[in-house]
Amino acid sequence: MENMNVSENKLSVSMKATSRLPVPGVLRNKRLLNEENLPAIDMKWYCEASAEGETIQRRVPANVAATRPKAPPVARSQVTGRKSLTATRAGLRAPAASARVVSKKPVPSVSAPRTGSVAAVAPAPGKRRAAWDLKGQVNDMRDKVTLYKDKMHLLSGDNVQLRRNEEMMLQQLEATGTENKELSHRFRMLELDMKTVQEKLQQSIQQVAELTSLSARQGQQIAEQLQTIQELQDSKGSLSRLLDSGEIKLKLAEQENARLREEVKALRAQVCDQQREIGEKEERLHAQEMERRHLHNLVQELKGNIRVFCRVRPLLKCEAQKSLEHIHFPSQDKKSLVLSRTEESHVGREKEAVKYDFSFDQVFQPSCSQAEVFQEISLLVQSALDGYHVCIFAYGQTGSGKTYTMEGPDDMTEDTMGMIPRAVKQIFQRAAELNSKGWTYTFTANFLEIYNETLQDLLVRRSEKNVEYEIKRVSVANEELHVTNLHYVSVGSEEEVYKLLHSAKMNRSVAKTLLNDRSSRSHSVFQLRIEGRNEIRDLKTNAVLSLVDLAGSERLDKSLSKGDRLKETQAINSSLSNLGLVITSLSNKEAHIPYRNSKLTYLLQNSLRGNSKMLMFVNVSPLDENLAESLNSLRFASKVNDCVIGTAQVNRK
Ligand code: ADP
Ligand code: MG
Repeated sequence: MENMNVSENKLSVSMKATSRLPVPGVLRNKRLLNEENLPAIDMKWYCEASAEGETIQRRVPANVAATRPKAPPVARSQVTGRKSLTATRAGLRAPAASARVVSKKPVPSVSAPRTGSVAAVAPAPGKRRAAWDLKGQVNDMRDKVTLYKDKMHLLSGDNVQLRRNEEMMLQQLEATGTENKELSHRFRMLELDMKTVQEKLQQSIQQVAELTSLSARQGQQIAEQLQTIQELQDSKGSLSRLLDSGEIKLKLAEQENARLREEVKALRAQVCDQQREIGEKEERLHAQEMERRHLHNLVQELKGNIRVFCRVRPLLKCEAQKSLEHIHFPSQDKKSLVLSRTEESHVGREKEAVKYDFSFDQVFQPSCSQAEVFQEISLLVQSALDGYHVCIFAYGQTGSGKTYTMEGPDDMTEDTMGMIPRAVKQIFQRAAELNSKGWTYTFTANFLEIYNETLQDLLVRRSEKNVEYEIKRVSVANEELHVTNLHYVSVGSEEEVYKLLHSAKMNRSVAKTLLNDRSSRSHSVFQLRIEGRNEIRDLKTNAVLSLVDLAGSERLDKSLSKGDRLKETQAINSSLSNLGLVITSLSNKEAHIPYRNSKLTYLLQNSLRGNSKMLMFVNVSPLDENLAESLNSLRFASKVNDCVIGTAQVNRK
């Protein structure tokens, strides 16, 4: 029964799990068994049932055995061991067989109810069948067998049912197994799905985390942007305030602008008027300028077109002589000087002071500065810009101060600058001023020396001196002179000219031994060609400013003059005396002016004509020992000073 209950339980579980089980038959049998109130049967001893319900009894259940009539003690005691057991079995079989036979006959005495229990069939306790009542006993047994057969039949039916159930259960189990397999497969699939889902979930979680941090960052950015927006709004507010104030200012500025425009209009009208006035004034100015030039020329003419300035240099520190006793400058008179020396009288042996008076256009005492001297020639320099050929000479013995006057000392300063740099400076300054009056100028400079009647370019080094310099006219129609191979340098400022002067000085510097000082034995000629153009009035000027530092005028001791020195002396004397001759010829208005007699006069012929302006510095040494030479120089200069060489004319086209 325990097993039954287990299978029943299993069944009920199975039924619970599935509704396909055929339960009713079993339940019915079970009910039947219970209803019949069968004695407890030990199922260990149950017999096997055939499919047809036949029962082959192998063992007798314990309780059945208990109901079996015990063998008589005699028989038991007679039979022992195996033999007695077999006998017992045989004894049992025998009554059974007999009972089967007997059952065909109803037993009236003992009739047990069909549904009654074994206990009910059995005679009540204390009322046992008598041993002799074999018939009764057989009946009892028969009943019992019938009962058991019924039970067996029932149980077989149950068994069949159970087998069916089992089969069904097996099928069900199989189905369940398949289902289980499917389910486990699905489960695995689901597990895989779950894994995928989990991974996705993990990814999602990660994404969520990332998104969270991103959103946090974005939140921060948004906060920052909000702050920026706030700041921008603030600045917008301040800007709009500024704008408001700016607009106000703009309005004010516009008003001011309108006012200023009006003013500008008025000023423009004024400017127009003034420009017209300026034009008129310029016209007047030009007329005045032309008038000034005319008057200036007139003054120069009145002064004479050839003028002579005398300059006595001061005593140098190195010179022993203490005073200038033999040279006198009449007080307040800047035009004369007196040289005196003691000479033997014609009548006796007594010595008498002889005076030599000289008068010139200007006499500069030793104390006169370069600036003072230049002031007197600046008008002449101006004439060169106005279109007049101008020629300035420095004449005198060596050491009288010619080079100092013309160029300045070696350690030249602003104060000690000579006439050439000062003239150049003035010309460039004046040209710049005249520029505003419509005049434009171009300047070309050259610097040469004439030594022993040969020309040498001072703007090239001596090593390059193998070229021939020839003085030629530019053309037959043009009187302008041109020296072949000479450097004509176009200059635009005084600084450029200063550089040329410096390089000329370098090229000229030679050993200054007294007799062999080539610089003192040669004429140096600096020329600046000035070409002016006034486009507005269609005017052109062309003039040459020549500044000449002549060779020393001293006469050499004839006994010392031999060979080259004699030739050199003759050349110097010849050119200087020829210069005097040209000037006197001009003065005498002679038909033939001997320009060709010397290179110097030939080169300067255009500046030594009646239409040119000449100035001669006669430089005088203050030394006693040079008195004779000083007298010679002054006499030569006086001759020149006495000359009147006509009226200068402007070279204007
Ligand atoms: P030259 O050229 O006639 O031979 P320099 O010009 O060489 O003479 O002058 C001779 C010396 O006298 C130079 O040392 C020069 O500096 C000096 N000298 C000439 N004139 C003056 C002057 N006006 N003031 C100062 N020193 C002068
Ligand atoms: Mg000199």
